[in-house]
Amino acid sequence: LDAVEAAIRVLEDNPLFNAGKGSVFTHDGRNELDASIMEGRERKAGAVAGVTIVKNPITAARAVMEKTKHVLLIGKGADVFAADVGLEIVDPSYFRSEKRWKQLQDQLREEREAKEKKGAALPAVSPAREWSTVGAVAIDAAGNLAAGTSTGGMSNKQYGRVGDSPIIGAGTFADNATCAVSCTGHGEFFIRWSVAHEIAALMRYRGMTTQQAADDVILRQLKQVEGEGAAIALDVNGNFAMSYNSEGMYRGYMTADGTSTVLLFDK
Ligand code: ASP
Repeated sequence: LDAVEAAIRVLEDNPLFNAGKGSVFTHDGRNELDASIMEGRERKAGAVAGVTIVKNPITAARAVMEKTKHVLLIGKGADVFAADVGLEIVDPSYFRSEKRWKQLQDQLREEREAKEKKGAALPAVSPAREWSTVGAVAIDAAGNLAAGTSTGGMSNKQYGRVGDSPIIGAGTFADNATCAVSCTGHGEFFIRWSVAHEIAALMRYRGMTTQQAADDVILRQLKQVEGEGAAIALDVNGNFAMSYNSEGMYRGYMTADGTSTVLLFDK
């Protein structure tokens, strides 16, 4: 859990990723952040959705897991809870990056142009997608798994929209009996296909390996319905998969001897 939270905090603080600072904007120009975390020993989990002032939503998700009787807090309740337990609070403007603001303006312009041309509105989310939600999975020396995911969601999303990232079983899942999973991609598909849990279920009930299970969901089930995205999955024996049906996936891993590997587009 410590490793997952620490890795995700670094990525949240880095404006290059769509999580924490540098998150994408809603249609009406705000940042609403989602995150979740889960551990595999007792299947404890915590999540926040639609937070607006919490600097590190992954830490708020962990606080929900460790300090409340609940799994998911949303909106104002989640923001107030985070402040009450002493997490770092920021002005909403902290999350703004010029790159993401421009991305929203481009999408709004494309929508306006399409409307003028065809007299019909485009869907709320433009097809020009880029998945940069962040996530991490880890295993400790005792064989305990953990997974976490953090995101600003999808650019130009409707006010109040919640994606898969804070939904346990969709964007995040961990169970020591199978694997830890974190997902990125078109959240509505990941919710409908229960992607993170489906990967674990294929291992549990069909005896698939981590790679087979991740590939079955990402490369077969989701591919068939054009549900774009990716998952990272790690099992109790340290086997892992990083499966994606998108053009690329910025990913990396570190083994117990400290060797780290980073991959971008190569399959
Ligand atoms: N899965 C995220 C969401 O739908 C977006 C992403 O992965 O970039 O909110």
